[in-house]
Formats: sequence, structure tokens, C-alpha cells
Amino acid sequence: MTLLIKDEYPEKLFREDGKRLDGRDLKELRPIKLEVGILNNADGSAYLEWGNNKIFAAVYGPREVHPHHLAKPDKGILRVFYRMATFSVFERKRPAPGRREKEISMIITDCLEPVLFLELYPGTSFEVFIDVLDADGGTRCASTTVAALALADAGIPMKSLVTSVAVGKIDGKIVVDLSGVEDKAGEADLPCAITWFNEEISLLQFDGDMDLNELDTFLKLAKDALKEIYEMQLNALKSKYITIQEKYNGGQVKQ
Ligand code: UDP
Repeated sequence: MTLLIKDEYPEKLFREDGKRLDGRDLKELRPIKLEVGILNNADGSAYLEWGNNKIFAAVYGPREVHPHHLAKPDKGILRVFYRMATFSVFERKRPAPGRREKEISMIITDCLEPVLFLELYPGTSFEVFIDVLDADGGTRCASTTVAALALADAGIPMKSLVTSVAVGKIDGKIVVDLSGVEDKAGEADLPCAITWFNEEISLLQFDGDMDLNELDTFLKLAKDALKEIYEMQLNALKSKYITIQEKYNGGQVKQ
């Protein structure tokens, strides 16, 4: 586990050979593994490992809204529940959802809503349950990315996928995809998300200290990383259907 308590933050976030502490180059993503359709009891699901982050997303809907008073007569609603398991971080997290989880749930809702056709589903809800089992920086971005896949896996009509990544600044250098220690000990963290159907940024948060003139460089770097992750999302969706196709090849079930 790379999480450290504050007093233990490393003084330097780069090694002598110029690489980051986990051996990455400035623009290099942590290893990402994506899988869809892994939970039998959800309408759609996806699982992600992104560096040390491990996250499940399960989707239900369209279905009846509970509690009923939340239902909207003219459109469906999207509800996102981002939760971190109590064992997901170095210091035990209280099991009850805190302000941070509620804020992140709201942010992810805002990122995903633009790609759904909610106006076609009045009086119903789409629910996305996100469970972070292991957390190591960038969980809001990883959760948005895996939640979009789970929505697609549920067969819910979407304008496009949504992809998210953070860029930031550590020891004066701009980097992609901050790890937990880089997030805490670095100067700036800029999580962003993109909706691919219109290539618009649907999330841009900022935490830390940076020159606004650098924003273009940050966004350019983010866009390249987002494209890389988008390809992985598409491959994860394709591989589910390739597996099904192979299993039910021409109506003949392969043993
Ligand atoms: N974290 C933690 N305890 C908490 C919340 C977060 O240890 O109660 C860690 C976790 O690894 C998380 C990181 O701090 O990924 C950064 O948290 P932040 O709030 O910046 O959100 P994130 O980067 O995960 O989107």
C-alpha cells in the first residue's frame, strides 16, 4: 500500500533516474484493467483495476423510483452512489457515507447525465452503485470511467461513453494520472472528464497551486490520456461480445 500519513510524505516525488516513484514517465498512466458484465444480479456492471485502485460499478434501470417523491414526471433521473469500503484506505474509513462521498457521487452524476437520454424515461430512475474496495488516488476519475462502462453494459442507450483522468503537478513538473502519494504530496491535482459524443469536458476540478497559463498544457496532456483510456473502455466492451460470440458460435454452444 502506498498510502502514507502526512508526516511520512516523501521529500521528492522523482527518483534519481528522473522517473516517478512508481517508475512511471511524466505522461504514463498506471496499469489499467477493465472488465464488463461481471455481476449476475445487476442490469449492467463493470470492474476496474487502475494502479492500486479496485472498483466495482453496478447499474439498475430504468426502474421505479424509490422514494417515489424523487420521481420526475417529464424525465428519468440518474442516481449515483459512490462509496469507499471501510478497508479501502490506510486509516479506517467510517462506514457511513461522508460529505466527500456525497460530493463525489454528485460530481459523477454530473459527468454521466449528459450522455443519457433521460427525457425518454419519465418517472423512472437509473441507479449506479460504485464500490471502491481499494483506493490509491484518482478514485473519482476511475469511478466515472468504470460507471460509464457499467451503463453501457446494461444496454442503456447512450450518446457516448465518458472517460475521466486527473492531471497534476508534482515537484514542479506536469504529470498524468496522479497516484495517492502524488495526489497528497504534489502541488496540484486537476481531475477532468470528457463526453465523447461532443468532446466536451464534463468535469474540471482543481485542487492546489498552479499558474492558470499552464491550463492549456494540462488539458492537452489530459486529452491524450483520455483517448488512451477510451480505447481500453471500447476494448473491454468488445471483449465481452467476442466471448459471447465465441461461446454461441452460429447457434452452436461451444463446450
Ligand atoms: N483517501 C483516504 N481516506 C479518505 C479519503 C481518501 O485515504 O477518507 C485517499 C484515497 O486513496 C484517495 C486519495 O486519498 O484515492 C485522494 O482522495 P481525493 O479526495 O483527492 O479523491 P480521489 O483522488 O480518490 O478522487
